[in-house]
Amino acid sequence: MKKVVKFGGSSLASAEQFIKVGNIIRADESRCFVVPSAPGKRFSGDTKITDMLYHCYELAESGQAFNKQLNQIKDRYLEIIRGLKLDFSLTEDFETIKKQFLAKAGSMYAASRGEYLNGKIMAKYLGYEFIDAANVIRFHKDESFDADTTQKLLSERLASCEKAVIPGFYGAMANGTVVTFSRGGSDITGSLVAKAVKANLYENWTDVSGFLVADPRVVKNPEIIHTITYTELRELAYMGASVLHEDAIFPVRQAGIPINIRNTNSPEDDGTMIVESTCRIPSYTITGIAGKKGFVAVNIEKDMMNSQVGFGRKVLGAFEDNGISFEHMPSGIDTMTIIVHQDEFEEKEQDVIADIQKATQPDSIDLESDLALIAVVGRGMKSTRGTAGRLFSALAHAHINVRMIDQGSSELNIIIGVRNDDFEAAINAIYNIFVLAQL
Ligand code: ASP
Repeated sequence: MKKVVKFGGSSLASAEQFIKVGNIIRADESRCFVVPSAPGKRFSGDTKITDMLYHCYELAESGQAFNKQLNQIKDRYLEIIRGLKLDFSLTEDFETIKKQFLAKAGSMYAASRGEYLNGKIMAKYLGYEFIDAANVIRFHKDESFDADTTQKLLSERLASCEKAVIPGFYGAMANGTVVTFSRGGSDITGSLVAKAVKANLYENWTDVSGFLVADPRVVKNPEIIHTITYTELRELAYMGASVLHEDAIFPVRQAGIPINIRNTNSPEDDGTMIVESTCRIPSYTITGIAGKKGFVAVNIEKDMMNSQVGFGRKVLGAFEDNGISFEHMPSGIDTMTIIVHQDEFEEKEQDVIADIQKATQPDSIDLESDLALIAVVGRGMKSTRGTAGRLFSALAHAHINVRMIDQGSSELNIIIGVRNDDFEAAINAIYNIFVLAQL
């Protein structure tokens, strides 16, 4: 049994958090490969080390003094080292960082030092080997990720080592130039390491006990999802639910490794298992609800539209030519609706309408703005009678007018469009009928 464990910034924000992490790792022999983030916020209003580094480097790049800011970063690490009672110095590392900042080594290099230094402390604390991600995570010259070389370098390097710490978030080009993933990218490193060592499980430790059925800013104390499939997760993440970096899914999914989201502050909780497929019936018919505001519906009407070959292509061509991607396309016999993001569409609105007009001569084009989309996702819906019926009657009872309905052919989700103002009430109505009523 081999596990890769990734710890997020809040799990490593202070010495106390490091001690919790140490206990978690020591409690299970199979937790052999550790991927740390940089120290995150210790309390609300605190600043993440990564943000401090970006800011400090901005000063350096524009030729301003940055010593004070760099010392503040150093102090955060020293506090951790002292709290862990480690005999360990980062003096040389900070000398190098200062030199590199003066030599304008780049903001990616700067940001990566958060994970690099935290990884060194973690390795010392655990007595594990430290492996610099710059030597094993490879990027192309254009800063895009080089999956093949990384897989080769990582698996070769890790084959000869039993227990190691590999800092998250960054890697390097063949010439040594450091490159980072996008924000939250340590999740990706964890996934790559898990694939390279053929781990049985990728544990992703954070500060929540798993994915929640709905956004806690919208629903009070939502339940936790115990098991979710990769496909369900993708649907929910696309609709705005976030815990894990989107690009972290692919490597482990490809290698058939499940992900377990766990809570460092509550290690006794099982968290959420993300799996390829499962015969475990979800506790409720639905797995999760997510949604986003800010869409526009472009409604096109034309008599006998249905019998015109190529009508849909021409309409979609108008969006494509203007570089706008569409989200949904519900249609009737002589009507067709294209749903797009309002902020993307607004500035090109007149161009798109003119192009549709020219290409299809419709009877009317009318726009409906301020729409919110809500996805109700669940592998259990396919086999349950009356899901749609319950959904729509709950919304009707809550006096919410449904403006659009779209059920994917996979029957994995039902997407509804409501007014932006009805967004919160709609999600609560759906949550109440499927989750609270079933508890
Ligand atoms: N430290 C980086 C960030 O704040 C990467 C990570 O935590 O995954 O985005």
